[in-house]
Amino acid sequence: METKTKLGLVFFPAFDWAIAPDHPEREERLLYTRDQIREEGLLDLPEIAEFRPQIATRQEIERAQICVPSVEKVCTESHLIAAGGTITAGDLVVSGQTERAFALLRPPGHHALRIVHGSRGFCTINIEAVMVEYLRQRRNGRLRVAIVDTDAHHADGTQDIYYNDPDVLHISIHQDGRTLYPGTGAVNELGGPGAYGLTLNVPLPPGSGDAELLYAVEHLVLPVLRDFQPDLIINAAGQDNHFTDPITNMNVTAQGYARLTELLAPDLVVLEGGYSIEGALPYVNVGIILALAGLDYSGVREPELPPAAKKAGRVHDAVVKNVAFLQEVWAKRKETDLAAVFGRDDYFRRKRHLYYDTDDIHEVQVEEIKLCALCSGYRKIHSYAEDRHRKQAQIAAVLLPWHACGACQQQAAEAFEQLCAEPEWDDVYFQNPADLKQPLVSRARRGKR
Ligand SMILES: [Zn+2]
Ligand SMILES: [Zn+2]
Repeated sequence: METKTKLGLVFFPAFDWAIAPDHPEREERLLYTRDQIREEGLLDLPEIAEFRPQIATRQEIERAQICVPSVEKVCTESHLIAAGGTITAGDLVVSGQTERAFALLRPPGHHALRIVHGSRGFCTINIEAVMVEYLRQRRNGRLRVAIVDTDAHHADGTQDIYYNDPDVLHISIHQDGRTLYPGTGAVNELGGPGAYGLTLNVPLPPGSGDAELLYAVEHLVLPVLRDFQPDLIINAAGQDNHFTDPITNMNVTAQGYARLTELLAPDLVVLEGGYSIEGALPYVNVGIILALAGLDYSGVREPELPPAAKKAGRVHDAVVKNVAFLQEVWAKRKETDLAAVFGRDDYFRRKRHLYYDTDDIHEVQVEEIKLCALCSGYRKIHSYAEDRHRKQAQIAAVLLPWHACGACQQQAAEAFEQLCAEPEWDDVYFQNPADLKQPLVSRARRGKR
């Protein structure tokens, strides 16, 4: 009898791409994992098959993000293959070729924001968002997605992209931002006026282990997912919560990650961070792969376990408190008085300072979201960036959401025309993810550069 392949693996170690040769985000992250997968004979199992990544097109990137000045200027081929690999993984699952897929690739993506002036937290292209937008476009926007990000760092980029999107639930579980890059991801960051309560952040105190991570999954993530009823569950699976990770302060084990995967039962898993190249990644990845394929993972063990993992820990009070707070937010999200949160004007405005640590770029962003009763509202963004050589970029963008109402479509088009007539912008962009051929239109203005 023929059994359907349970799990598709899409592998891309990006041999020729590195921030610096001794940087923690380097190709060995995946090479040791690959060796371990071979050693364990996982690719010989009928449940598991490997697939080659494709290269993402400019349009596929531009459906999710706005690269300044252009995709070609900020992306290497490795970025396009990492993004394309998530598309390959997404296709495997929605076409029914495999039940699930795991994209093991780099460079990672979850710190990459909607507007891209460069690289932040080792990320340039948001590989989960590229996949989600590709799949949504295939389904004419009729797709509800849940992204559960379990990297130790807050998924600030993915949160930014889906902050006001009612069809994408974004949950990030991470080491408390007061103690780790990028500093954001507090419990009171809950999404924009068009998607209030669909951004959920569970900060974990440094030192948290399997007990804390699994508590958040069992008591918050699973009930919320049952309620939201997504068509697809995506796990952005960073592995830097591991107790051996050199750049974080967490105590999660390979068994903890495998159990998390079993509980979450994601359709798609995308590798994010994880910098313990020999001590963690090979074991965590094997645990995740076995759990995804429905195989026994109880034998997966790191060479050494942390002393804390030997005694069954009580869940940290801060986690219990945060989960209780978010359970209440979720339960009451539809009764929330949005005017009290976002004001009674026609627009909600926010101003943010964003920092690109990898490329040393400072950005100030001013955003306006139309408060619309018929759709999630079009958006206008002004972005002012300056790099370490004091080179400046000043751009404006108008964003249409999926399922924009007629009035928002018209007002967005007018706003774009008006911005194009203003001389101060280096570039003006119009993003419409529902446009099949040209999701992003750019009008280069008279150059200051
Ligand atoms: Zn991370
Ligand atoms: Zn509208």
